[in-house]
This record gives sequence, structure tokens and C-alpha cells, in this order.
Amino acid sequence: MAKGLEERVLGLLRGGKLVRKGDRVLVSVSGGKDSAVAAWVLAKRAGELGIDVGLLHIDLGIPGYSEESRAAVEALRERLDAPLHVHEIEKEWGLALPEIARKLKKAPCHVCGTLKRYYQNVLAKELGYNVLATGHNLDDSVGFIVNNFITGQVKQTHKISPLLPETELTSRKIKPLFWIQGRETEGYATEKGIPFTRCSCPFQKQSPTHVIREAFDRVEELRPGAKKSFVKNVLRALPGKGETTSPSACELCGAPTSGKVCTVCRMKKRLWAGGFQLGQQ
Ligand SMILES: [Zn+2]
Repeated sequence: MAKGLEERVLGLLRGGKLVRKGDRVLVSVSGGKDSAVAAWVLAKRAGELGIDVGLLHIDLGIPGYSEESRAAVEALRERLDAPLHVHEIEKEWGLALPEIARKLKKAPCHVCGTLKRYYQNVLAKELGYNVLATGHNLDDSVGFIVNNFITGQVKQTHKISPLLPETELTSRKIKPLFWIQGRETEGYATEKGIPFTRCSCPFQKQSPTHVIREAFDRVEELRPGAKKSFVKNVLRALPGKGETTSPSACELCGAPTSGKVCTVCRMKKRLWAGGFQLGQQ
């Protein structure tokens, strides 16, 4: 099943104009198979694509899982001989992700997603990368779409795309594995001996998106191609496809946000109410 994955990814990178000659591409790597495969294909083909590739890892401080993830990312860096930038949440916040979530009374996956997006945006710009690549795959798109329909955030759905153009505040965002299933990346990673951890996040099973993905795996078995046609048809049916809105700068930290103050600054304000200086990094 993994046969042809690399060609399909390259086809999207070139045909979809995800990367161009001279691009500096930062790949956000979690330690898991998908981002490892995205980094692998981009770094191995960097010469012919005419790009520079760097790796970004956000260490969440989740006991057990984060140590395993960090070790996998270090091993990947060695194999790819690419620069690795690590950002440790606990060093900046004085708290690891589980405590931040507990204190804010928020689901860990929600806080994790918010923090990852924030640091990916901010660090790509800070480190001088004009492209940010993530390991999001076809299963992630299916989960995102279904979840948006369940929670009523349907308006967000049209934003899903293998390519989001650069804005003043954000690097171009690309998803090289947009049409690839998780089981395919696993096969490819195993076949190529790509270092990744099978240790899954302890909070993952609490997430409805995880259950949706499992259900779609079963549908795909009964009807191969179901996931791809689901995503294609939803995107085709949605109004507003291709519309992009430029984010504004957070009044406190300058990060991209849709409001006046970004979610991360609001989280910090709640955590450190009274003793915390806003915008402190
Ligand atoms: Zn902010």
C-alpha cells in the first residue's frame, strides 16, 4: 500500500505549488509517523526541489510520551542531517501541558492544538522560514470536517487545504500528506526505517476526533477510496472555498489572531491572573 507514496507526495508538492525553489521549509515534527514521513520526503528531495529544510519540535512535557517523542525526533534529525529547533513549553510557562490544561479547566487536546499552532506560526517567522509544513494527513481532514459539523463550526471547514498562502504575519502553510492515509504513512515509515514513536499521547483516546477516524478506517475497508471522496465532495459543496482572511496582530504579543488578543495571551492572563505580566515570554 505504501508503494507510490513518495511520488504522490512529490506530485502534490510540485503540481499544487506547495514549494518553490529557494523556499526555507520548517517541518513541525511531533515524533509520530506522519510528521516524520513529511520531513523525510521533503529533506530527502530537498536538492531537486531547491529548498532548505529545518525541523521544529514542541516539547509539551507530557510524562513518558514527551520523552519518547523527543528521542524519536532527535533520531530523525540525525538521519536527515537537518537543523532541529526545540521549544519547551515547561521552560517558558513554568508548567507542562497537563497542568496548564487542568488549571484552565480545558481539554488537554484543545490546549495542545492551540499552543502548537501558536508556536508553529511564531517560530517559523522568528527563525526565518517562509514555509511551515505539518504532517496532517487524509484522516486528519476527515476528523476535522466531521468534528466541525458536530460542533457547529461549519464555517471553518472551507479553510482546509493542502496550501494556505503566506500572509504578512504567517508563513505559507503546507500539508504534503493531504491525500495520504495514516496507515499508508505507517507502512512507508516502517519500510524506509524512518525513526518514529508508536507511543501515542495519553490524552488522545479522550478526543472524539480519534473515534471518528477509527470509524472511517472501517468504512474505508468496506469501500476503498471513501475517505478521499468524502473530503473532495465536502470541499466541493462548501461555499467560500479558497477565501482567506488575513489575521491581525495580537495587541500583546504580535502573533496572528482573529481578534484583538490571541488565545495564548488570554490563557496566560487567566493562569497568571494578578502576578503575571501580559506579553511576557
Ligand atoms: Zn498574543
